[in-house]
Amino acid sequence: MGIVSTPIDAQDEKGTIPTGSKGSTAMPVVVAVPKELAPGEQRVATVPEVVQKLTKSCLEVRVEHDAGTGAYYPDELFTAAGAKIVTSRTDLLDGARIVLRVQPPTVAEVDQLAGGTIVIGFMNATNNLEAVARMRDRRVTAFALELVPRITRAQSMDALSSQATAAGYTAAILGAGNCPKFLPMLTTAAGTIRPATVLILGAGVAGLMAIATAKRLGAIVEAYDVRRAAGEQVRSLGAKFLELEIDAESQGGYARELTPEEKAKEQQMVSTAVARADIVITTAAIPGRKAPLLITRETVATMRLGAVIVDLAAESGGNCELTQAGKTVNVHGITILGPQNLPSRVPFHSSQMYAKNLQSFLALLVDKEGVIAEEFTDEILVASLLVHAGEVLHRPTRELLSGVKP
Ligand code: NAD
Repeated sequence: MGIVSTPIDAQDEKGTIPTGSKGSTAMPVVVAVPKELAPGEQRVATVPEVVQKLTKSCLEVRVEHDAGTGAYYPDELFTAAGAKIVTSRTDLLDGARIVLRVQPPTVAEVDQLAGGTIVIGFMNATNNLEAVARMRDRRVTAFALELVPRITRAQSMDALSSQATAAGYTAAILGAGNCPKFLPMLTTAAGTIRPATVLILGAGVAGLMAIATAKRLGAIVEAYDVRRAAGEQVRSLGAKFLELEIDAESQGGYARELTPEEKAKEQQMVSTAVARADIVITTAAIPGRKAPLLITRETVATMRLGAVIVDLAAESGGNCELTQAGKTVNVHGITILGPQNLPSRVPFHSSQMYAKNLQSFLALLVDKEGVIAEEFTDEILVASLLVHAGEVLHRPTRELLSGVKP
């Protein structure tokens, strides 16, 4: 049995709202896209090209005034694509059945939603317990895009991957921009320049994109990952894969935590590679845990003067001991960047990819006539359903909310 989609609560203070579900009159389902208010967030959850597709599927799309400005999608483009631009948040949400977001809603934003509203976006649930609890209590339905399973059928809605692609690309560009050297080999009248060496630690989606970008810039690229399967992908991009006699691939293709002996071996090999690199980009992550420490303070001291570390794991504790999240620090001539929200630095394309992910996701939820599924039976919907009908369905979040450690 699937999970039944509840219509908007007729007793809600906003009154009865057409649901668009079977049996209702021909009122289109309203999809609302608020302006993202999180500091530094430039992305928007939909783009004009996707609005055109959604309106063709019998949905009414409302976009909050200026929602796309930060990503260079002005209001006029949304209007031309068939969206209605709305100036107040109240008008945006009045009667809206679905809300598309990038960042999780704050408690105040949840309070603006009528019961039964379906919110879709990144929810970062275990770090946003208060907002999750408020969605539960207000009987808001929330789908978390980070919970979409990494199965082939869900690739088009894999927002973790699309945004990691943007992050990996931006990390390589940031590394090059902060490096005092050229990346490619140059043969000039003023002499020959040797290519720079870029080391990528963690060859998941972001790491592979960083490898591809650094290669295009002409650097010599080396990479390491605890999952041996990553080796083939690294080599196919023309980079050297650093081999260690460890394979730490576990469930779902993600990495497991290493044993103390494995960690020591890894540390030694990584330290040697770090010492010879001009740019190190670290992306190592273990879902739900603090990022593994790969570059110690002592290793930083062995690096070449002018070398750069771009630590993509800054937000989850950092892969380098000296990383400060959101800051750039210089320690003895080594520049260490701890950037946050890298996809937001290429907001035009990050938003475009994210919007397409959402469009694919919506196709599971709403049929071609604009009718919302009565039951959430699809395995992708089931896996990503965070809150529904007054219940938190994601176990680790539910356990944290009830004070039990997952
Ligand atoms: P992630 O962001 O969770 O982690 C980044 C990388 O860090 C991973 O490759 C991981 O193996 C690596 N890592 C962890 N600990 C490390 C350590 N101590 N040293 C070095 N590297 C370490 O990863 P991700 O980019 O989200 O990808 C996770 C997995 O999901 C991969 O296997 C990827 O191929 C797979 N994936 C599958 C699909 C799909 O089939 N649809 C889509 C995207 C990703």
